[in-house]
Amino acid sequence: MSPSPIYSEQQQELAEQIDENTTLGNWKDWKWQLQHSIRDIATFEKLLDVEFTPEERKSLEETVDKFPLSVTPYYLSLIDREDFRNDPVFKQSIPCPSELIIGEHDMADPLHEDADSPAPGITHRYPDRVLFHISNVCSMYCRHCTRKRKVGDQDFIPNKETIEAGLEYIRNTPQVRDVLLSGGDPLMLSDDYLDWILTEVGKIKHVEVIRIGTRMPVVLPYRITHDLVQMLKKHQPLWINTHFNHPREITTSSRSALQMLADGGFPLGNQTVLLAGVNDCPRIIKTLVHKLVQNRVRPYYIYQCDLSEGLTHFRTPVSKGIEIIESLIGHTSGFSVPTYVVDAPGGGGKIPVMPNYLISWSTHKVILRNYEGVITSYQEPDSYEPIFCDRKCDNCQLTLKLDDADEYQSIGIEKLLSYDDKAISLVPSGNERYNRRDEAPDSVHA
Ligand SMILES: *Cc1c(COP(=O)(O)O)cnc(C)c1O
Repeated sequence: MSPSPIYSEQQQELAEQIDENTTLGNWKDWKWQLQHSIRDIATFEKLLDVEFTPEERKSLEETVDKFPLSVTPYYLSLIDREDFRNDPVFKQSIPCPSELIIGEHDMADPLHEDADSPAPGITHRYPDRVLFHISNVCSMYCRHCTRKRKVGDQDFIPNKETIEAGLEYIRNTPQVRDVLLSGGDPLMLSDDYLDWILTEVGKIKHVEVIRIGTRMPVVLPYRITHDLVQMLKKHQPLWINTHFNHPREITTSSRSALQMLADGGFPLGNQTVLLAGVNDCPRIIKTLVHKLVQNRVRPYYIYQCDLSEGLTHFRTPVSKGIEIIESLIGHTSGFSVPTYVVDAPGGGGKIPVMPNYLISWSTHKVILRNYEGVITSYQEPDSYEPIFCDRKCDNCQLTLKLDDADEYQSIGIEKLLSYDDKAISLVPSGNERYNRRDEAPDSVHA
């Protein structure tokens, strides 16, 4: 029996080559995709029907020995065979011998994540939030991975004991109000295991929000299943950040994954890495951010490529990032503009970088320029009483009540007149007739 049609001709062909009995159901099964991941150069050549020269093949295989290769059939199917060497998906997933060139300034762990780790799996860098690495596996090995030193080394999901040690750190650290589940890819965990972790984190009183960072919508969109979304919905407020780098990654399948997540009620963000030869172009990034917002994904960060070993050929100067931001601010919707950041080597955290809009200032005026190059002045106020701040908020004239403002509540008979109140009767407390039966749910005690 011939397999049912898969999205594109190339996907269908690929599926048949992997296994002639592949069905659409197999193709869309994330576990099938993982089982059939491409892990060597020869299989890549065979499946895509392309050929490297013998020298190329040799150096590619050497590269794979140091930095392993793994790509899902789905992600591989996005490569344009006709011009594969220039293809953004190819460049992100298939090794390049330049990875073996270690630059003078390259570091194995440029962000000092290991140094800032007070407990297994935890990176605590900022005052109120932690990175919690709950997976050492990914469905695809990005060639530009900042944790390249670890990729493929120890492909495992930490056991409950190890996770418990991370949880214990969060429980004992009350200033942590935001927990960012990262990895590897947290969605490599089974729904049940992830459910357990989310439940445990959710029980911690001082944790206000949880985030998941995942590249699944990009490289394995079939991981976003109905069951996964239903499970995640139990753990709101949950923010999800993904990692699209190029408009070609936005496909029918990835759109549908994003739609399921957005409909599930999760705020979606995207983190892009600026990569030479992949997306170092204002036009590409503008198209990408427009496609993202069309799919209800807010561009969050665009990262300068880290100084990790093996990434030299992906690096652009910082000026390229500034040029890209210059092409976005004012030219397109404010919510389409990500923050461009350099993650400080040595572990200083993310540092935002922007074009300059403040040109000059005096005591009474500031001079600004807009995106068109119009130079403008803003008159500073003639008198401004700075509020003396000794951090004693109780004595401050600014009303610094931080609890929720009371919302208007109707009282008494007004309640019965109101359309948005469910009460249909008011009953005096201690009414004996009511005491004799279960209280009617639609009445309130006056
Ligand atoms: C990026 C990062 C965070 C989260 O930073 P936000 O700016 O809040 O998104 C937290 N911890 C570490 C170690 C990080 O690298």
